[in-house]
Amino acid sequence: MQKEHVYNKDILEVIITEKQIQKRIKELGREITEAYDESDDIVMLCVLRGAVLFMSDLSRQINLPVVFDFMDVSSYEGTSSSGMVRIIKDLEENIEGRDVLIIEDIMDTGLTLKHVIDLLKTREPASIKIATLLDKPERRVEKEVSADFNGFEVPDKFVVGYGLDYQEKYRNLPYIGVLKEELYI
Ligand code: 5GP
Repeated sequence: MQKEHVYNKDILEVIITEKQIQKRIKELGREITEAYDESDDIVMLCVLRGAVLFMSDLSRQINLPVVFDFMDVSSYEGTSSSGMVRIIKDLEENIEGRDVLIIEDIMDTGLTLKHVIDLLKTREPASIKIATLLDKPERRVEKEVSADFNGFEVPDKFVVGYGLDYQEKYRNLPYIGVLKEELYI
């Protein structure tokens, strides 16, 4: 028998199971494949580090030629938005004239993506689209930023797992769960 995951004890409730995540990613892969059927020059841009697992699974469900690139931005201090976005690692690819698909773990206020998109636009890509695993629409501050491909809507609670962390922990949980409040308050 498999031993219980070490992080299970820190989770108040599981809101999206591993099975639900994988099923939805297959659907998203199909949607994205159809949406880009004219394109053969797609740059999948993973926003580190939370979107790594989503990028890895989603890319294998997209039946198109894609290249991978990575960008690291800092947006959060603790569990609430600081409103500050800093580019820690820029992408490597020249995106001029190419289709950029941003891969994000969760859209919360939208401030991080707004900043990233404004920067990418200056480099004149052919298009920019966003695929996010999770969306917290209640918290949106940047109203003009919305996902083209969205896995799940989640309530305004701090969630971890499947790439999402709290102080770098919980990323390797295979599901999305709500972290027990006493662990971060
Ligand atoms: P935004 O700029 O949209 O407010 O924040 C986006 C980033 O904040 C995400 O990429 C993620 O790193 C972090 N974030 C927002 N909500 C949550 C959450 O519920 N859990 C975790 N672990 N990170 C979150």
